[in-house]
Amino acid sequence: MSDKLNWRDEFSKEVINQSRDYMDSIVDIFISNGFINANIKKSVYFHVNIHVKDNKLEEMSCTCRKNDHCKHQAAVLRYVEENNIFEKEKDFLNLTETVDVNLLKEYLKF
Ligand SMILES: [Zn+2]
Repeated sequence: MSDKLNWRDEFSKEVINQSRDYMDSIVDIFISNGFINANIKKSVYFHVNIHVKDNKLEEMSCTCRKNDHCKHQAAVLRYVEENNIFEKEKDFLNLTETVDVNLLKEYLKF
């Protein structure tokens, strides 16, 4: 088990390049226990679901016609990677185990 998700291996270079144009269009993103849910708004909405387990892509879907290994999924994974969201989620989980409620509220403010 690697300590980092190598999602780039699963996508073509072309799709990874295209994904850059979609990162700014991510309107929301939720992550819980390795399940990523994200919405991307271009001319229409695309809904992306990705399940990551042991730093591997277990399942992916997207509402676009291509459905799998598309630029929307790549954009979401890239966003997660560049913002260290998985690490932050882990920090958050660690925090919830040790910290009292008031400090947690402070943490959630930003
Ligand atoms: Zn898509």
